[in-house]
Amino acid sequence: MDRQQEFVLRTIEERDIRFVRLWFTDVVGSLKSVALAPAEVEGAFEEGLGFDGSSIEGLSRIYESDMLAQPDPSTFQILPWRGEKEPTSRMFCDILTPDGAPSAADPRNVLKRQLSAAADMGFTCYTHPEIEFYLLKSDALGDQGAPVPVDQGGYFDHVPGGVGQDFRRRAVTMLESVGISVEFSHHEGGPGQNEIDLRYADALQTADNIMTFRTVIKEVALQQGIYATFMPKPFSDQPGSGMHTHFSLFEGDANAFYEAGQEFQLSTTARQFMAGILRHAPEFTAVTNQFVNSYKRLWGGGEAPSYLSWGHNNRSALLRVPLYKPNKGLSARVEYRGIDSAANPYLSYAVLLGAGLKGIREGYELPPGAEDDVWSLSAAERRAMGHDPLPGSLHDAIRTMEESELVAEILGEQVFENFLRNKRDEWHEYRQNVSPFELNRYLGIL
Ligand code: GLN
Ligand code: MG
Ligand code: MG
Ligand code: MG
Repeated sequence: MDRQQEFVLRTIEERDIRFVRLWFTDVVGSLKSVALAPAEVEGAFEEGLGFDGSSIEGLSRIYESDMLAQPDPSTFQILPWRGEKEPTSRMFCDILTPDGAPSAADPRNVLKRQLSAAADMGFTCYTHPEIEFYLLKSDALGDQGAPVPVDQGGYFDHVPGGVGQDFRRRAVTMLESVGISVEFSHHEGGPGQNEIDLRYADALQTADNIMTFRTVIKEVALQQGIYATFMPKPFSDQPGSGMHTHFSLFEGDANAFYEAGQEFQLSTTARQFMAGILRHAPEFTAVTNQFVNSYKRLWGGGEAPSYLSWGHNNRSALLRVPLYKPNKGLSARVEYRGIDSAANPYLSYAVLLGAGLKGIREGYELPPGAEDDVWSLSAAERRAMGHDPLPGSLHDAIRTMEESELVAEILGEQVFENFLRNKRDEWHEYRQNVSPFELNRYLGIL
């Protein structure tokens, strides 16, 4: 028993915790939870808790279904929303095979492997996400067959008496109480759309935080009698919900992306990292934008990126170098704007980091930045400038990912195959479906 495990056991005792939830995610990033009685926690630390992995999407094959969930004591957290009388807590878990080895199918393990590859190169990876989502009156559709937002506000609007403000205040308070620091929160561009930006943390902690964030946001909405959704594009004619993520690599205390005197104070390492992400983005877009609906965001305007490009003050860019105070070298970073709010954070951060590291390892050259709005260029201009399109649909994205040695290597064979199988099923179901769009458009005239 190590010190962290002892601390958890002591806290459970002292705070009279009644339930300890063990959390992990499946291949598409759905949160899975099992509640343990306090007396079982010590055994779970030592041997893991057995469960049937074949019932969890993408976690194991039928013939090797016994898996173990082993709680990570550093993630122990008391959950405030279940009431103080019978306190509940949670820990994130690592998934092990029956012989106690880390499971290759565990998304958390996929990210850990990439972080240790970064560590072998001397880097620690920090991330901070800007998470957008919509607040709706409920999950039911309104008369127009569309969701009903809680307000009609727009970007940075202060909506007097609106539920959004109250919601953000409660949500931020609850996030802080589960140890998640928030930097920023505001109304976003769409009606009922909000954004909350988390403080930077190492990439594994950020991914855990995103999973907690989604639960907290849903919970606070429920308490207020409204509904929160991370669906990438709930409205055809309003912006989608992105999860722009800022990346930096540190070597000890120094930000490896910073170099005084260079363009945008960007080091060669930063430029190679960006080049890796840009070159491989089409291959990993099925991961960062994993649903049929994700492509409605990428190709539906509303400031979502559609083409491979990087820029500084350019909202059409896929990768952006944000403005920061020149004397603050520590905050040098690059922002990936492609990923959406419904992505599996573990797998997404693994592919983004892995692509960036490949750029560094192989010394990729960063193509010139885009000064212009890439959407306003003609197709020929974009082609000439190398601004190739991101995949146009989940089908396109799957086809591109299937050919990717890099993504197969980062995810590992099992996750790669399981993920693709899940996505092919989704695409086939979608393709079979005759939608309201088709009925409205064709039935009356054909
Ligand atoms: N909602 C936009 C997206 O889908 C981003 C808007 C913004 O933050 N500038 O990425
Ligand atoms: Mg923002
Ligand atoms: Mg935003
Ligand atoms: Mg942003």
